[in-house]
Amino acid sequence: MYFKLGILGHPLSHTLSPILHQALLAESQLKGEYLPYDIPPDQLSAHLSRFIAEGGQGLNVTIPHKVAVMPLLTSISQNAQLLGAVNTAIIQANGSSHGENTDIVGFTESLPNPVKQLLPQQHLLLLGTGGSARAVLAGLIQLGTQKITIAARQMKKAHALKESGLQMRTACQSQTHIETCLFSELETLGSVQGIINTTPLGMWPHTEEAPLSEDLLKHLLQPSPASSGHFVYDLIYKPRDTQLLKLAQKLNIQTFNGLDMLILQGVAAFKLWTHAELPSSETFLDNLRQELLNKLNLSE
Ligand code: NAP
Repeated sequence: MYFKLGILGHPLSHTLSPILHQALLAESQLKGEYLPYDIPPDQLSAHLSRFIAEGGQGLNVTIPHKVAVMPLLTSISQNAQLLGAVNTAIIQANGSSHGENTDIVGFTESLPNPVKQLLPQQHLLLLGTGGSARAVLAGLIQLGTQKITIAARQMKKAHALKESGLQMRTACQSQTHIETCLFSELETLGSVQGIINTTPLGMWPHTEEAPLSEDLLKHLLQPSPASSGHFVYDLIYKPRDTQLLKLAQKLNIQTFNGLDMLILQGVAAFKLWTHAELPSSETFLDNLRQELLNKLNLSE
């Protein structure tokens, strides 16, 4: 069988997906292609129909098509409905198409088990309210996090994300308590056990930026002995260690960057398309990390 796969977006100049999926095709010893399709919005419907007619099995969908593609698909998963966005389309041999969103599982699977196990006792701070914040919020709710405070620079966006979070909570029968605050109110928040940054602050080339100052980070994560399970997660993957992660490392807090989430959302999509058995070993993940780091011009 030959797999015809690809990514739909506009523009697509910076996508890492072809590198990742070609590595996955090679690893699973499957024949196929994964091509970038730079398609403007007015050609989305026609391109999707053509791809399906040509026997394509799978597409990633990225900006600006993640919402617009939804009514063009035969069915939509619960996760994609919760996020209001599709990042993966699975096409069956009869031409029917199913929309999924693998960002949630990409995030949750990137968290090591010891971190996941502590979430039901933890109060976390989520910085940002955009597309990736929705996926992180859904993932944290699914994992049963005790309490999440959503911080935004505009209260109406924090409230809107909280509303979505309450629907996600009902959908997965979770008890997660959700609160909101402004970035400017963080000093009065008290202590949290984990912080997840979903804003682009600190992303290359603006590597000197950080969403929180060192003093505020110290204040939010106190007391912070390394054994207490405190963590800082930055969804950014270029640079590998953002200014925020460097500040956390200075405080002996464990840190995670966005590279594993990027890889694991792709792995989840690849499995849905091909049903391939992929190794779950650290060596396999390390090889994928290295492929992407080379492409990003970052050395391990
Ligand atoms: P997005 O939808 O544009 O959301 C960005 C969020 O950051 C919004 O809430 C925005 O607030 C906030 N923000 C932007 N500039 C800010 C500032 N100066 N101060 C405070 N808040 C600010 O973007 P996204 O798709 O969620 O992506 C966000 C980041 O996550 C990017 O760095 C992206 O590369 C990364 N990401 C990583 C992965 C992964 O797999 N690792 C996946 C997706 C995204 P306003 O609404 O007020 O503008």
